[in-house]
Amino acid sequence: MTNHKKIAILGSTGSIGTQTLEVIAQYPDRFKATVLIAGTRVDTLIQQALQFRPEWAIIADATQYRKLSEVLEPLGIRTAAGQEAINDSMMFDCFDTVVTATVGYSGLTPTLRAIQAGKKIALANKETLVVAGDIVCKALSESRSTMLPVDSEHSAIYQCLVGEDSDRVRQVLITASGGPFRTLTAEQISKVTVKDALHHPNWNMGAKITIDSATMLNKAFEIIEARWLFDLKPDKIKPIVHPQSIVHSMVEFTDGAIKAQLGIPDMKLPIRYALGETFRLDAPQEHLDFSKYPTLTFEEPDETRFPCITLAKYALTRGGNTACVINAANEIAVKAFLNEKIKFTQIYPVISDTLSRIPFIATPSYEDYVACNEEARSAATEITEKYSQRQ
Ligand code: MG
Repeated sequence: MTNHKKIAILGSTGSIGTQTLEVIAQYPDRFKATVLIAGTRVDTLIQQALQFRPEWAIIADATQYRKLSEVLEPLGIRTAAGQEAINDSMMFDCFDTVVTATVGYSGLTPTLRAIQAGKKIALANKETLVVAGDIVCKALSESRSTMLPVDSEHSAIYQCLVGEDSDRVRQVLITASGGPFRTLTAEQISKVTVKDALHHPNWNMGAKITIDSATMLNKAFEIIEARWLFDLKPDKIKPIVHPQSIVHSMVEFTDGAIKAQLGIPDMKLPIRYALGETFRLDAPQEHLDFSKYPTLTFEEPDETRFPCITLAKYALTRGGNTACVINAANEIAVKAFLNEKIKFTQIYPVISDTLSRIPFIATPSYEDYVACNEEARSAATEITEKYSQRQ
């Protein structure tokens, strides 16, 4: 047991969380899940704890605590509940790596705590860097903590940059599937349903990121994420639509050479690479058959039909709390769309209206980000209600 890498999973019952547990189960001599943290899905968390026998199982939703503790405590698995308990758990000695697989803004505070505690971060929660990339990078530079990306594009970029000088990078080409509405007209996009938007062509993911892929805000977020992860000038990161999702991203160097990382669209690949800390684990079952992909295509993203993609440039040029506002407004807008309160094409207007209402802060502190997130969420809630009444 002593040589196992001990892993905490923040968001163990979501899409990345369950796939991380699949990877852990594939390498029982190498990895051990010692802390499992979930939001509300107590039954799944209990099942996972029974299978993986962590030291701790923690649930954000405190109303579910009794059920969790009654089943797990008699088995010697310790339990806790609530956001404070989650934040505090990031300092536990019983793990060295945390996979941040939670969705949205909620990843920020626990990730900062884990960085301060010197943990290795396998970053799947891109919003942490979108919301507050400057203070997260500062915390990383002041700690022995390290961060490896789990996002497939960023894992690809990381792999392309191994052994290269960062000042020899001409540009990073971040690929995008284009989502389920890539070939629809603006008129057709204005009529799409929740069911249409939840049907992603290549990736099976959680609901929130699937909607973000459909609006292409996910790609805007990934540009911001890449800017912080790789300390790149914003104008060096270019999105390119690649509907087959086989090329996970590319890096072009100053001599014109381009390196790419390819593979089947499967999140377990970047999860393995991050958990192995760039050591390439054997995965004999994973195999890209090129004969099934005779054509790989590339095209420019369409900013008219997918205006959310333009928010990356706006956020990075304006800086400060801009991306924090965009993220908060988007979380509210996506929820409203999923609840059928607003139309798909109203997600972007909710974000831009919210941006116009929230005062700009050039160099926000952690407390400023927390307050700005709250303020932007309530402004976005008001705006979505206004839109929903008009329907
Ligand atoms: Mg991605």
